[in-house]
Amino acid sequence: MTLRPSMLTRHGNDPSVSAELNWARSETDFPPGLSLTWLGTAGFRLELEDTVVYIDPYLTRVPWRPVMSQRPALPSAKTVASHVTRADAVLVGHTHFDHALDVPLISALTGCQVYGSKSLQTLMGLHGLADHATRVEPHRIYEIGPFQVTFVPSLHSKLLLGLKVPSDGEITCESLEALTASAYCCGDVMGILVRAAGTAIYHQGSANLVEGEVPRGGVDIFLAGIAGRAFSRRYVPRILRLLEPRVVVPHHHDNFFRPLDAPMGFSFNVNLGGFVEEVVHVSDDFEIRTLELLQTVSA
Ligand SMILES: [Zn+2]
Repeated sequence: MTLRPSMLTRHGNDPSVSAELNWARSETDFPPGLSLTWLGTAGFRLELEDTVVYIDPYLTRVPWRPVMSQRPALPSAKTVASHVTRADAVLVGHTHFDHALDVPLISALTGCQVYGSKSLQTLMGLHGLADHATRVEPHRIYEIGPFQVTFVPSLHSKLLLGLKVPSDGEITCESLEALTASAYCCGDVMGILVRAAGTAIYHQGSANLVEGEVPRGGVDIFLAGIAGRAFSRRYVPRILRLLEPRVVVPHHHDNFFRPLDAPMGFSFNVNLGGFVEEVVHVSDDFEIRTLELLQTVSA
C-alpha cells in the first residue's frame, strides 16, 4: 500500500492514522511460517517452526498510581500466564520496567533462557533465576532454533525535557521488596537484530542510536520504538538512512498504564501521526505498517 497525501494532513495521535496504516490492510509479503505479534509498548512475539521468541515483553502493565507511589512493581502471574504458554527465549534491549518487568516470570513459567545486559542478569538474580540469564556480547550471533540473534550497542532517548535518561545506570536493587518501578534502571541499551526465514528484523526499544553500530542496509522490517524521539536529534532520518528498511512498524506509542485487554490509548507524549510525517519526509519508499495490541501478522 502506498501512502496517500491524505495521511499527511493528520497530526498527533488520531486513531485513524493507526487504523489506515494497519498491516492487515496491506499486501506486504511476510515469510511463510513466521509470525509477529505486537504486545504493546516495545514488546513483540516471534514464532517460527515451533520456536517462540519474545522481545521486551511487558504484559502486566502496572497502573499509574502504584508506579508513582513507589510500591514494588512486580509481574502479575495471572496476566502473564494468560498470554504466555510457550517461550524458547526472551531478548531484552534494556531493563526499564516497561521492557523487563515480566521477563523473570516468563522464564520461570517456561524455563526459557533470557538474553540481555548485566542489569538483566541482576534482575533475574533477584527472582532466583540468575542461571537462566545470558549476558550478551555485542555483535555475537546467538542461535535460538531457526532464529539468529545479534545485540547491537545503542542508547536510550533522553526524557524529562530532554535532559536525562530516566533511571539511568545499572540495577542495584537488592530485594524484590525494594524493586519499585524506578529501581528498574536502564542498564546497557541494545538494538536487537533477528534473522529468520530469510528476513532481517531490527528492534529498537528506545528512540536513540549509536551511528557506527547500527546495521547498514539489509533490514527488511524495522520495529521502531518511537517514544522520546523528539529528544534525539534527527533520530528518524539518521536511523532510516542507515537501516534502509523495507517496512517500518512503529511501537511504544500506546498508553501502557492501561491493561492489555482494554482498548488502546495513546501515550500522552508520543505523536504517531507526526512520526508518519517524519518517515515520509525522509522517503516515501518506506512502507509504514501499524499493529493493534495483540495483533499477529503472518503469511
Ligand atoms: Zn526505557
